[in-house]
Amino acid sequence: MTSTQRYSFTLLAVFILCISVQALNKVNVWGFFAHRKINELAVYALPDSMHIYLRSHIEYLSEHAVDPDRRRHSTKGEAEKHYIDLDYYPYDIKQLADSFPKSWEMALSCYPEDTLRTYGIAPWNLQQYHYRLVKQFQGRDLSKLLKTMADYGHYVGDIHVPLHTTMNYNGQLTGQKGIHGLWETRLPELFFDEYDLLVEEVKYIDDVQELIWSVVLESHRLMPEVLHKEMMLSKANSSSKYTFEERGERTTTSYAKSFSQLYHDNLNGMVEQRMRCAVSCLASLWYTAWVDAGQPSLKEFE
Ligand SMILES: [Zn+2]
Repeated sequence: MTSTQRYSFTLLAVFILCISVQALNKVNVWGFFAHRKINELAVYALPDSMHIYLRSHIEYLSEHAVDPDRRRHSTKGEAEKHYIDLDYYPYDIKQLADSFPKSWEMALSCYPEDTLRTYGIAPWNLQQYHYRLVKQFQGRDLSKLLKTMADYGHYVGDIHVPLHTTMNYNGQLTGQKGIHGLWETRLPELFFDEYDLLVEEVKYIDDVQELIWSVVLESHRLMPEVLHKEMMLSKANSSSKYTFEERGERTTTSYAKSFSQLYHDNLNGMVEQRMRCAVSCLASLWYTAWVDAGQPSLKEFE
């Protein structure tokens, strides 16, 4: 290989790597936009005893809402915290609700740890994060507390996304590749201004484990509709589904605005409802951790 060939080969390799990283970044994550909004709006939903001290840290909590996605490909053990492939397990939705092991210890007694980690540990990770958050409130270290709150918000956001509960997370098994980014990134970015995400009041959660699982199971119940509606609309609108844009030498493809609008309308407010639920659930979980920690005065954290 001559040095020119080697140089071209290196350039090509770097180019392919960049494309792959872009592709990876496009799947598996509520869009960065939605994650930031969920954390931000949850602070507004908190009672005054927490809100007045945390509002000056809204920027931090919102900006760092996406840290877990940033480290998911570089930190071992991170990726599995963002999802759970419930359809890997041989249960229908009713059996999942009734008999799927809800605690990590129970799950470990039913399945090898490797299997659990391969198919995602989102609900169990969240339970662990809850205990960690209670400890942080008791520890009174503001920077650690804010970091844990931001991460926690991310994972709570993720379990509200139906495609985070299936092996077919990006429609790759049904010829619908790209649907993940369409549902959780393109739609909220296009239609966010129409959403009403104001949350009335936070609640103390008596059973955190139960709440987390009810969210996960509701996401899983909605998952077939997310896939089915996109497939029906794609069949009827195959020629107008995508737009193509020239960017220098490259042509990029994205879902056409008209198709996105059609899909959004057909979902009957599902994206908005899941986002609102995420804001409300997160605010209540933050609040619950603070109460469980003995309601420390956040003023003393400064
Ligand atoms: Zn995530």
